[in-house]
Order: sequence, then structure tokens, then C-alpha cells
Amino acid sequence: MPYSIKINAKYSLAILALSVSSLALNACSSEINAQNADRFATVEIKSEILADGVAILFGSGGNIGVSYGEDGTILIDDQYAPLSEKIQNAIKVLGADPANYVINTHWHGDHSGGNENFGKAGALIMAHDNVRLRMLGEQTSGRGNRPPAPKTALPAVTYADGVKMHLNGDEIHIIHIPTGHTDGDSIVHWKKANVIHMGDLYFNQVTLPFIDLSSGGNAKGFLVAAEKALSLANDETQIIPGHGPMATKADLMGYRDMLKEVIGVVGAAKKLGKSLEEVQAIKPAAQYDTNPNGFIKGDKFVEAVYKSL
Ligand SMILES: [Zn+2]
Repeated sequence: MPYSIKINAKYSLAILALSVSSLALNACSSEINAQNADRFATVEIKSEILADGVAILFGSGGNIGVSYGEDGTILIDDQYAPLSEKIQNAIKVLGADPANYVINTHWHGDHSGGNENFGKAGALIMAHDNVRLRMLGEQTSGRGNRPPAPKTALPAVTYADGVKMHLNGDEIHIIHIPTGHTDGDSIVHWKKANVIHMGDLYFNQVTLPFIDLSSGGNAKGFLVAAEKALSLANDETQIIPGHGPMATKADLMGYRDMLKEVIGVVGAAKKLGKSLEEVQAIKPAAQYDTNPNGFIKGDKFVEAVYKSL
């Protein structure tokens, strides 16, 4: 039941009794202008408990995965800076401590925009090596350039292939997928809770895949990510997409099949020497381009696939 709030009554009572010191949540001024402030003022952070000690937060930007319990609170992504206080409140309502760790699934601002606030409040930020490199400002992106991130917003712990966290009674595997949405993507697998966070390697229903070529992305990495997640999943697995509602293994299989088909058609046409325009004219992704408000439309997706191959 996505987009609904389920609050454990026991927790909410406990929270009322707690006086949790509020975070010094200073908005990252470089990212906010008056228009943005208005935009975020109306955003509500909605939570859904997925398993014991695992929840998802929906707001504006990438979906946030939460692990919470006796060992503290881990956030997978942290949306935009102006939402940090609301996110921290939503965590409190879950009965969880303030965030101790933040994992960025990749560097885009709608997934890492809260880093400075959570970092200042004491969270250890972790991500793939390339996330830190891009946030240092050495690269630009198809999502728009950003100034170099301040030190407190940077991942302090980085990894090449992945890392395992043995916290809150679970094994949380953070797995790097090379060259997919960007060159610094991670997916996150809660082994015991049977939950997988896909980051932006999976947009569920909201748009066709966004392949950020200028951040080192490649269509083939999306297929690798989907296959990897499917190899870890069973029929009960709950899948958190980077954007959109919760998904099942069957949903992800459909997405994998779509990727396979489009990459196959575009690749075969390119091999025959067809130009990008000629391949776009075949409309290989038309039947999947179902959301008129999608951020990535068929032609743009096909262009990114073409350039990936
Ligand atoms: Zn992204």
C-alpha cells in the first residue's frame, strides 16, 4: 500500500515522551532559491513500514530507504536539502534515532541534496568512489552542473565494489553496479528483510530509464542491475525503485524484459549502419512510453541507448 502512513502506536507514544534535540538543519543555500523554497514547502514526507526495522520514505526526489533499530538509523539517499528537517521528523515518527549513516545510491542532487545537513548533524556519509569524485566538482552531468559540494556533504567513506553493514539484525549489502544510471551507482539489499533499493537504476512507472551518459552511465548497466537484483529476489521481495511506487520481482522482470528488447532492437539496427534518426523512426520504445508526463520520452531513451552501444 504505497503512499500511506503506517505508524506503530507504541512508537508514536514513545516519541511524544522523547525530547529529541532538533537538528541544526541549515539549508544548503546554493541549491535554494525562492521558487524552490515554495516548491518544497508543500512537500509531505510519507512513510511506509516494509518490514521490522525497514521503511521507505516518499517525498520529493529519490525514494529513501530506512534501516532503523538498536544499532541506529541508516538512510539510503536523502532527497533535497530543504526537506532534511521533514525527513528527520518522519524518521522520528518511525521511532528511530536521528540518522547515523547516509548511503548515496549515486550523486544526483535529488538523492544527495540532504548530505550537508545530515553530515553536519553527525551522520557518516558513504557512497561509491565516483560519487565523491563527482561531488568534488570534477565532473558535470546531464542533470545539470552543480558547484563542488562542501566537505560535510561529501561521502567520507567510499568503496569500489561494495560494502556490507551488519546492523539492526540484518546484513545490508551495498553493491556497486558499474556504468548504469551513472558510473557511481549502488543498489542495496537487506538480506533478512528481503528488500532491495535500486536507486535510479529503476524508475517504476514514472518514466522511461534515464541514462546519464555525461555521468558515465550506459544502458547496458541497467540490464546488469536488473539481472543482479532479480538474482537476489524471490516472489516476496519488496523492491524500492529510485522513483515511483514500490515494486515486486514480477514488476522488475517486466522492466528487465523491456530493457532487453529496446537494447536488442537499437543494437541490431545500429549494427546495420542505421543512423540515430533512422532508429528513432522505428520507435523501439513506443509501447513502453506510456506516461505523457515522463521525464524521459521514447526518442530520448532510444538516443541514450544508441549512444551507449
Ligand atoms: Zn539520478
